[in-house]
Amino acid sequence: MKNSQLKLCKVPGCKKEIYVNKSLFCGEHERKFREYRKTAEKSALGLSVIVLGFIANVKKKS
Ligand SMILES: [Zn+2]
Repeated sequence: MKNSQLKLCKVPGCKKEIYVNKSLFCGEHERKFREYRKTAEKSALGLSVIVLGFIANVKKKS
């Protein structure tokens, strides 16, 4: 039997569930992350750095 574990959004303080399997964020933050990534990718950063930068960015705003 498979243990289907629900994942939660990686943004601290956000307790929303992730519905898309490959995603790290909930629907709302996933959309914001994609926009953030578009700009961040131009500076050729690794994905993990982009994720950390995005989380710091969200924390700053809230
Ligand atoms: Zn979220």
